Amino acid sequence: MTLLKAVRGTRDLLPPETELWNRVEATARRVFARYNFGEIRTPLFEDTQLFARGVGEETDIVSKEMYTWEDRARAQSEKAQSLTLRPENTAGVVRAYIEHKLGETGLLQKLYYIGPQFRRERPQKGRYRQFWQIGAEVIGPPSAGSESPLRDAEVLEMLASLLDELGITGWSLVLNSVGSSSDRPRYIAALREALAPVKDQMSADNQRRAETNPLRVLDSKDPGDEAIIETLPKIADYLDDASKAHFAAVLAALDACGVPYTVNPRLVRGLDYYTRTTFEFTHGELGAQNALLGGGRYDGLSEMLGGPKAPGIGFAMGLDRLILTLQEAERKAAAAQAAVAGVPLLADGFIAPLGEGLNTAALEMAKELRRAGLRIELGDGAFRLKKSFEIGNKLARAIVLLGEDEQRSGILTVKNFATGEQTKIPRGDLAQALKT
Ligand code: ATP
Ligand code: MG
Repeated sequence: MTLLKAVRGTRDLLPPETELWNRVEATARRVFARYNFGEIRTPLFEDTQLFARGVGEETDIVSKEMYTWEDRARAQSEKAQSLTLRPENTAGVVRAYIEHKLGETGLLQKLYYIGPQFRRERPQKGRYRQFWQIGAEVIGPPSAGSESPLRDAEVLEMLASLLDELGITGWSLVLNSVGSSSDRPRYIAALREALAPVKDQMSADNQRRAETNPLRVLDSKDPGDEAIIETLPKIADYLDDASKAHFAAVLAALDACGVPYTVNPRLVRGLDYYTRTTFEFTHGELGAQNALLGGGRYDGLSEMLGGPKAPGIGFAMGLDRLILTLQEAERKAAAAQAAVAGVPLLADGFIAPLGEGLNTAALEMAKELRRAGLRIELGDGAFRLKKSFEIGNKLARAIVLLGEDEQRSGILTVKNFATGEQTKIPRGDLAQALKT
C-alpha cells in the first residue's frame, strides 16, 4: 500500500513548534486589542467572482494560483457555482463589510483576522500552498476619517510595535505611493509607452506583463531585466497633488513617532486593488522570500465589489515566515535545545510516583501544580526509578519523587536536572520551588 502523505505545499505543525505559533498569535491578539481592533472570521471559500473582481483578473494570484472548482448543485432549487479557496483575506473582509452594512454605523471598522490562505505556488522555503496570515483592515466611510494619512501611519506604527513585541529584530519597512484611481492610469499609459520599444528584450513573464498588467513589471525579480526596469518612468513623477500631499503626510507622521522606513519608488505589490500607500516589511533572514508582510490602501475596493465608498488600509503578515524568522533567531542564539518533532517543550516538573499505589496521589499533586500555573508531566508508578529519571530528564527541568515516605511526611524529594542538586521541599512550597 502506498503511504499517504500531506499534500505538496501543505504541512503538519507539531509540538513544540505549535507552542511558538500560539505565542505569536496571542501576542498579535494582545497588540491588536490595544489599538482597539476586533476579530473577524470569514469563510475559507468564497464565490470565485469575489477574487476575480477584488484582487484582479490579471494578477498572478487570480490568473494562476487559485484553487477553484465548479460546485455542483445538490437540489433542483440550487445553482451550480464556481467557488475558490481564499488566496487572501482582504476581499472577504470587504465583502463582509458590504454584506453586513457595517458602513452604516458611520464609524471606522478596525478588524483583524488570523487564518489559512491557499495559493497554488511552487513550494519552497517560506512559500507554501496552504499558509497562514495574520492581517488587519481599517475601513469605513470617508466621514469617519478612513482616508486620512493618520490611519496609514497608525497601522504602520502598530506593525512596528507588534514586530518589536514579538522580538523580531532587524526588520525594514519599505513604502511607496502608487497613486489614486485618477493618477494611476496616466502612469500606466506612460509605462506602456516606455515598455513598447524594449519589452522584446525582457523575460517571457515580463513580456506578458507589459501587455496585460505593466505595473507588475516593476516588482519583477528577474535579474536580467533590472537594467531596463531602472530606466522606466517613476510613479512619484505622476502623482497628482492630492496623492503627493497624502504620502508626504504619512511619512511625516512616521517621522514624528520614530518608525524608521525607506521609500522604494518601485514597490507596487501584487494585488490590483492597492491605491496610494503600499508597503512591505522585509527581513534579511528569510532569503529569497524576504517579505514578512505586505499591505496598503485600497480606496476603491468596496465600490469594485458593488459596495458604498469605503476607503481602507490593511496588511497581511505571513505567519509561516514570521515563525521561520523567530526560529532562525532562536537557533542563532543557540539558547534553545535542539527541538525534535514529537518531543514537547521542557516541563517545569516531572512527577514520579514510586509504586502504582501512589498513582492517584501523584495525579492529584499534578493537578494542584497545574492549577498553580506550572507545566507538569506525570510519570507512572509502574516505572522503575531509573526509568522515571530517564524520562523525567527528557521531559522536564526537575523530577519530584513521590514515595510512601514523602506521602506521609509531606516533604518531597526534588532533583533539578540542570544543576544536579537534590533537595527536600515541603509540599506547600513545591509550586514556588519548581517555578524558579
Ligand atoms: P511574495 O512576493 O512573497 O509572493 P505576495 O506579494 O504574494 O508575497 P501578499 O499577497 O501581499 O504577498 O501576502 C502577504 C504576506 O503573506 C507575504 O508578505 C508573505 O509573508 C505571506 N505569503 C504570501 N504568499 C505566501 C505563501 N505561498 N507561503 C507563505 N507565505 C506567503
Ligand atoms: Mg506571491
